Amino acid sequence: RRRIAVMTSGGDAPGMNGAVRAVVRTAIANDCEAYAIYEGYDGLVKGVDKKGNEMIKKMEFDDVRGFLGVGGTKIGTARCKEFRERAGRLRAAKNMIQKGIDALIICGGDGSLTGADLFREEWPGLLEELVKTGELSGNDIQPHKHLNIVGLVGSIDNDLSMTDATIGCYSSLERICRNVDDVYDTAASHQRAFVVEVMGRHCGWLALMAGLATGADYVFLPENPPPEDWQDKMGKIVETHRARGKRTTIVIVAEGAHDRNLQKIPAQEVTKFLAESLGLDARTTVLGHTQRGGVPCFYDRFLGTLQGAEAVKAVLDTTPETPSPVICMIENKIVRRPLLEAVKQTKEVAKAIESKDFGRAMSLRDAE
Ligand code: ADP
Repeated sequence: RRRIAVMTSGGDAPGMNGAVRAVVRTAIANDCEAYAIYEGYDGLVKGVDKKGNEMIKKMEFDDVRGFLGVGGTKIGTARCKEFRERAGRLRAAKNMIQKGIDALIICGGDGSLTGADLFREEWPGLLEELVKTGELSGNDIQPHKHLNIVGLVGSIDNDLSMTDATIGCYSSLERICRNVDDVYDTAASHQRAFVVEVMGRHCGWLALMAGLATGADYVFLPENPPPEDWQDKMGKIVETHRARGKRTTIVIVAEGAHDRNLQKIPAQEVTKFLAESLGLDARTTVLGHTQRGGVPCFYDRFLGTLQGAEAVKAVLDTTPETPSPVICMIENKIVRRPLLEAVKQTKEVAKAIESKDFGRAMSLRDAE
C-alpha cells in the first residue's frame, strides 16, 4: 500500500489542521496509509525526538477527529536549519525510506515549498549515496526511486502567487478586523487616533483588506509605498474626516511598510506625526502573534479540506515526469499549478519591491 506523509512547516496558520485531517482521511479512503511528520522538517530529519518518541507517525482515521475547529497546527511546525544542508536532507531521505514513504504533502509557505522541491530533485542522488555508504540497501530503495511532492499553501499572509487565498489568511483577517473594531470603540470614546501594525512580511494583503473592512483613514503597504509627502497627504485626509465629524482615526500599517526609498515606516513614526503635527491623542497598537492564532474561520476549514483532498489525488496521479504541483484556489476553483513557478512568481514581487519598481509589484499582485 502506498504511504503518504503530511507535514506542516514554516509559520503556523489557522486551517492547517483541517488540511492534515483531509489528507489523512482521503489517503485512507484511497486505500493508502497516512503518516504525519511532527515538527516540520525537524521531524523528517531527526525521525525521533529527544525522548525517543517517533516523529514520523502512522495516522488512523480517528487520530484526526476534532482537528477542523482547532487553530495552529496540532502536528507542530518548526524552522529547521539542518534541512537547508544536504546532510540534513540525506538523513531525511533515510528516515523516509525506512518507513517506506515516498510521497510528501507539505503545508507551508514559499520557503517550505522550495525546500520540498529541492528534496525531490535530489532524491535519486540521496538514495544512491545512502546505498554507497551502506546505510540503506539496494532492496530498500528499489520501490521508492521517485519522490512525490505536493504543496499546500498555509500562511496568514496570503503572499503566494497563483492562488487567490492561502490557508489561514481569512482567519487572520477576521481576527485583525475584530481587533481594530475593539480599538475603534475606545478611539470613538476618547476621540483618539490608533495606528495598528499588522503582519504580512512583503505582502500588504492583510493591511489592505483590513483597511477596507474597517474603514481605515489611511493604509501603508509595501507594494505601493506612500508618496514622499505622505505626512501632508495623510494629515489632510485625517483632518477632512475629523472636520466631517469623525471621532476616530484608524491607520493600518503593514509590518513591511516602507517609503519609496525602502526606508522602513514604523507604526510609531506615524503615531508620532498624528500626535505632534495634528495634535491628536494617538496610540500605537501592534497586533503581533494574536493574528496567527485562534479558531479557523469557515473559509479556512473549507480551503484546507478541499485542498488536502486534492493533494492526495495529485499524489496518486502524478508521474515522475510531472513537475511538483501546488494546490491553489483560483476564482473559487481548486486547481493544480507547478510549485516552482508559483514560488518564482512570488519572489518576483519581492524583487520588484527591492528594485523600487512598485508599478511592477502592484501589477504582479493584481495579476494574482
Ligand atoms: P515558510 O515556509 O513559511 O516560508 P521558512 O522560509 O522559514 O518558512 O521555511 C521553513 C523551513 O523550510 C525552513 O526552516 C527550512 O527547514 C526549509 N527551507 C526553506 N527554504 C529552504 C531551501 N531553500 N532549501 C531547503 N530547505 C528550505
